[in-house]
Amino acid sequence: MDGLAYASAVHFVWWCMQYSATVETSFEAGHLIEGHRTCGRVHGHHYRVQATALGHMQRDGTPVDMFELRQATQALADECDGRYLNEMLPGVIPSPHGIARWFMERLLDQWPRVAEVTVWERPCCSGTVKREV
Ligand SMILES: [Zn+2]
Repeated sequence: MDGLAYASAVHFVWWCMQYSATVETSFEAGHLIEGHRTCGRVHGHHYRVQATALGHMQRDGTPVDMFELRQATQALADECDGRYLNEMLPGVIPSPHGIARWFMERLLDQWPRVAEVTVWERPCCSGTVKREV
């Protein structure tokens, strides 16, 4: 393989790789999970949300527009901020997994390649929802 063919092959492999980008935001909200050992009464958390989207390399070197993904995730966090999640998210059990699924479903309206959302309820505890992309 000559130098040009090698460079093209390396470039082709680099171009075909799948990349991901993760953004993070946070919000404060209250919730109640009936019958739950630690969340069984009304209380609040400082939630952290991480959203990951997949992409292929673009000519500008950015497979995922992290600024726009962050803006979309932040807009949803802003909707939740200062709210009582049991009222705000009807039909959703406001556990980290339930909140992560809500974020995932809403982000998919704009970001079909969102692959994973993690919601941290405390520094030690998170819930993640993943999907095949
Ligand atoms: Zn709780």
